[in-house]
Formats: sequence, structure tokens, C-alpha cells
Amino acid sequence: MKVLKFGGTSVGSAARMRALPALIQGPERRIVVLSAMSGTTNALVSIARLLYEGDQTAANYQIEILRQHYLIVARELLTEPAVAQEAIQHLDNSFKSIFGLTRNPLSAAGERLILAQGELLSTLLFHRYYTGMLGQQATLLPALDFMRLDKNDEPDIDYIEQHLAAALAQYPDEQLFITQGYICRNANGDIDNLKRGGSDYSASLIGAAAHAEEIQIWTDIDGLHNNDPRVVQGTYPIRELSFDEAAELAYFGAKILHPSSILPAAKHGIPVRLLNTMQPAAPGTLISDKTGTDAIKAVAAKDGLVAIKVKSSRMLLAHGFLRNLFEVFERHRTSIDMVTTSEVAVSLTIDDATHLPEILEELRGFGTVEVDENQTIVCLVGNLIQADHGSARLVFNALRDIPLRMISYGGSPNNISILINTADKARALKVLNDGLFQQRQQAVEAEA
Ligand code: ASP
Ligand code: MG
Repeated sequence: MKVLKFGGTSVGSAARMRALPALIQGPERRIVVLSAMSGTTNALVSIARLLYEGDQTAANYQIEILRQHYLIVARELLTEPAVAQEAIQHLDNSFKSIFGLTRNPLSAAGERLILAQGELLSTLLFHRYYTGMLGQQATLLPALDFMRLDKNDEPDIDYIEQHLAAALAQYPDEQLFITQGYICRNANGDIDNLKRGGSDYSASLIGAAAHAEEIQIWTDIDGLHNNDPRVVQGTYPIRELSFDEAAELAYFGAKILHPSSILPAAKHGIPVRLLNTMQPAAPGTLISDKTGTDAIKAVAAKDGLVAIKVKSSRMLLAHGFLRNLFEVFERHRTSIDMVTTSEVAVSLTIDDATHLPEILEELRGFGTVEVDENQTIVCLVGNLIQADHGSARLVFNALRDIPLRMISYGGSPNNISILINTADKARALKVLNDGLFQQRQQAVEAEA
């Protein structure tokens, strides 16, 4: 079994949907997981927001615009009148269910029902195209029959495995299944979702549940790049990454992958391949148990951090100090990204400043507190400690003219994190690129 997930841009128009069949062929059984067409989930979020705000008129208007858009796509894709007619019937039902929610104040359950329509529509349209227009064989498998959250709103792995197996067992001769990413049911059986960008997570959960031999994530970029292409020129896709390296990169800024998405695949050792629908023959990035040869594989940056320094003479030779300090953050449900300590001070960073005033208030009870906003973590990802032949020297040499606020090395063998002012970020990414990847970049260019 292989799982192939296509993101919003890969199904974003009739033309893009027409390009999919060529990408989903293969000798083994396959489950194709689709996102909503690009822009749809945003539109649904905004419709739900208008309804929460009580602006029925604007909501109705936006729903009608979206409906018209889908009618156009359906007619463009499904040129056979009978096929189009049947699909439009489904579209109408879907939009009726959204319009039906505009008469009363919107509930949380109503909102989740609205958000679910994007994936339901994209899979419907593609399935009807593939079977009705191309005459190919495929089964539409409703994700709501097997994707489920437990009482802690975490995927219910056992449930998913059992129910997916049962769903697949109904079609022993079927080679190709199409299902929705992102949507699921919660512990009460109500419609829910895996949060924004959750289709990757769906694919990984489905791959793990089906004991797939490979999970493919198809997007419109050719894999994870070694640096931020918006800031640095000449970045290149990393061919091979370990699961741990990929998780660090996904968390630290690489938008292509949802950070928790590869965890289920990693747990089962299922390779994840990142591929590009616009360049299907390009090798992309392979994420697996193995790692490639380069010590430092990539640089990523995460903005929007706040650094907090607590200086206290009570810390000297005391035990329990860090626990007390961390408990402040726990009480305010704020997670900490980076920590460095000296004998009399601790610096740490948070990326969610919602409870900053209360946190600071409590921290002042420990000693003097300093706060720096507009901080960026620059993260170097690779197989650093084992293979370390001077990579730290290369990094710090490259960064010699940039003020460094915090450095974290050794927490995991896969990353060095450095905190800098966001104002210095572009410069830092560029000098790191020159210092670390120039040779590799030239080799990639020569190959091309
Ligand atoms: N359609 C959902 C979103 O836009 C899920 C996904 O595409 O991954 O967030
Ligand atoms: Mg996505």
C-alpha cells in the first residue's frame, strides 16, 4: 500500500485536477488523500467568522460566491452533462448544509461542519472526474468513517487502524481509494478536524494505520530546501533527511510540512517522500530512518519569539529553582522553545506572548527580569554531533559579525539553535549560506 497526499494547490483548479491521474498510477494498492482546493478552507473560515459575528448578509454573500466558484469548476472538469449533473447535486447538498447554518447563531459544531466541506468537495469532484469522465476505477472512502480523535483530541490510533482496515476490507479487489485529508470525528462522533494544514497529518496517520510502504506528500515545491528561498538565492532541495531532522525543520519554519505530520510515519519507520506536482520527475526529499551524508543539511528560521532572562542570586547552588521557574510557564499554558542557563541566570524563549504580562509578573518574584521582543531562532539542522568535524566552527565563523543572544547546542544531535534579533535574520541566513553551503550549491548547479 502507498499513500499519496495532494495539497490544495495540487487540486486547486480543474486543470490541476486533470494532472493528477498521471501521478497516481502504480502497481500497488494506493490511498489518495486530498486537501481542499486552495483558498477554500480560508473562505470557509471567513464564512464561519462572519456567522460568529452575526453578519448573516455578508456570510450568505460569501457562501454564494464560493458556490458559484464550485459550479464553474464542476462544469469545467466534468464536461459530460450526466456526470456534471450528479456532482452538482452533491455540491448543492453541501452548500445547503452551509446555508442551513446561517439562520441561527453559529455553534462550534456548526463551524466544524462548515470547515469540513472543502475536503468533501475536492474528493467528490476528483472522484467523479476519475471514474465518470476517465472511466477509471476508484473508491471514494469517507474519512469520517475511520479518522477519529480520542477524548484528549489526539488521533485515536487503534480506532483508525481498525476502522480503516474494515473500510478497505469491503473492497478487496479495489486498487485505488480516494479520501479526505484534515477531517475526522471527535470522541463524541461529531465532525471535527486535525487543525489547519492537517492533511499531511491525515496522510501520515493513514499510512501508519494501513502499514503502508511509503507515504508521498505532493505539493508545489520540490522538497525541503536547505535554506529559506524567500531570503537566500540558490537554495536546493535536500535529497535525504532523517525523521528527526525533518521534524526540526518542519517546526522551525519550513512551511511545506505540518510539524506533527511525520510523527506517525516516523513511529512506524514508513518513508515519507516530498514530491512536486509541477515537476513529477524531480527526486524531491526522502525522509526516512536514514540520513544523508552532509553534517549540516539545512538552515531554518522561526520569527516571533520573545526572550526572557531571569537573573537571581537564589539560583546559585540551589536545587528546585528551574522547576519553580518552569512551573510559571506551565500555569500559563505557554510552551518554551529554547533555554540556556548560567550559574545565576536563565534565558528562555516563548513564541506565544498571550500570557506574557502574567508570566512576567510572577517571574519578578524570582529576581530581575529582562524581556527582548522581535527575536528569531536560527536553527541549523543535520547530523551534527556524531558527524561533527568542525561544523560549529563553520557556523560561528559565518556568524562572526552578528550579535547572538542565545546559543543552544547538544540538546539534540540534530540541531544548533541560535537566537538573534529578527532585524539580523536575512543577513544571518545569507552568511550561513555562504559559509556552509556554497560548495554544495555549486555542485548542485553543476549537476543541473
Ligand atoms: N484544507 C485544510 C487547510 O487548508 C487542511 C490542509 O490543506 O492541510 O488547512
Ligand atoms: Mg498544506
